[in-house]
Amino acid sequence: MQAVIAVLPGDGIGPEVVAEGVKVLQAVAARFGHTFTLREALIGGCAIDAAGEPLPAETVALCREADVVLLGAVGGPKWDDPQAKVRPEQGLLGIRKTLGLFANLRPVQMHPRLIDASPLRPERLQGVDLIVVRELTGGIYFGEKRRERGPGGEWASDLCIYTEEEVVRVVRVAAQLARRRRGKLTLVDKANVLETSRLWRSITTRLMRDEFPDLQFETMLVDACAMHLIRRPADFDVIVTENMFGDILTDEAAMLAGSMGMLPSASLGSGRMGLYEPIHGSAPDIAGQGKANPLATILSVAMLLRHSLDLAAEAECVESAVAAVIERGIVTADIAAPGQPTYSTAVVGDAVAAAVAG
Ligand code: NAD
Repeated sequence: MQAVIAVLPGDGIGPEVVAEGVKVLQAVAARFGHTFTLREALIGGCAIDAAGEPLPAETVALCREADVVLLGAVGGPKWDDPQAKVRPEQGLLGIRKTLGLFANLRPVQMHPRLIDASPLRPERLQGVDLIVVRELTGGIYFGEKRRERGPGGEWASDLCIYTEEEVVRVVRVAAQLARRRRGKLTLVDKANVLETSRLWRSITTRLMRDEFPDLQFETMLVDACAMHLIRRPADFDVIVTENMFGDILTDEAAMLAGSMGMLPSASLGSGRMGLYEPIHGSAPDIAGQGKANPLATILSVAMLLRHSLDLAAEAECVESAVAAVIERGIVTADIAAPGQPTYSTAVVGDAVAAAVAG
């Protein structure tokens, strides 16, 4: 197969981990006889420095022409001034919105060797294999924001709006995923309090009855879900939820896997185009030191192969290579057991690429 991949390394550890993802893509191309054309562009703080804006028009054009996008991370102390008119995150929000990517998939899996890296007791982590599908372009993060002064002092409001269309399209993505997995979907909401949640619940219940009667479907309040993710994480298969609840629950779920450096993500729309990135940020505290764990980015490459390029065998090959490298103890410091040797970002990436090459 031939595919054009837009590569946006970004800031901080972004370029370091993306370099390892690219190595793995090249190893997949060589082993399976594909041609991946990689085209690099600027996003985030480095784009502000070079072009005065976090999402230059050339970057948008390149992403639109590509089949798929691989991204590192954006941001850092250099661009953190809260008064600044242009901020690195605007690049990220802008590219997701421009490409119409409304469903954010965040899988959480446990590798047996890494169970000690998690703060949870080992017996709670046995069999954890869940995926959160977070709505990405609607809800309270995008509603009208106001801040004014009234008789009682200052007041502020953030409007939360969801339309039927926004709910249906993301629930369909989640239900189709559940059908290819263990067949269970959990809708997380706050339907006892919020009208938007009641809309989510009625639409999802109807959709599941009409289009996905073969799936096991349950609803759960977000506060209960926060508890059950820690108490019995192995019971979840696919969780679907609105933007802000998904944002919070996925950081909580990330800690099940022990390190931010382990979790990949995919942002999908209605077509095959997707944006793939680790869930972590630019980690300025370790940038430039060769300490960043590249596995979240490499696992994002596996998601890219599976979801956008339909290359399931290649995706499994990358995931098996990651598991084999962890098994051999070739890991960065964030997931190493006490006393275990640690390896650099590039050595871990080389080991995964070599395992893919076979
Ligand atoms: P962060 O995810 O960058 O780092 C949190 C902690 O996890 C740090 O101690 C870091 O060293 C560690 N960590 C993260 N990724 C790691 C990896 N691959 N290997 C080993 N350790 C890793 O979050 P933060 O410190 O809150 O934010 C730093 C910057 O990143 C900020 O400017 C923030 O705005 C930005 N950010 C960007 C994204 C994104 O691009 N998607 C997401 C979150 C934060």
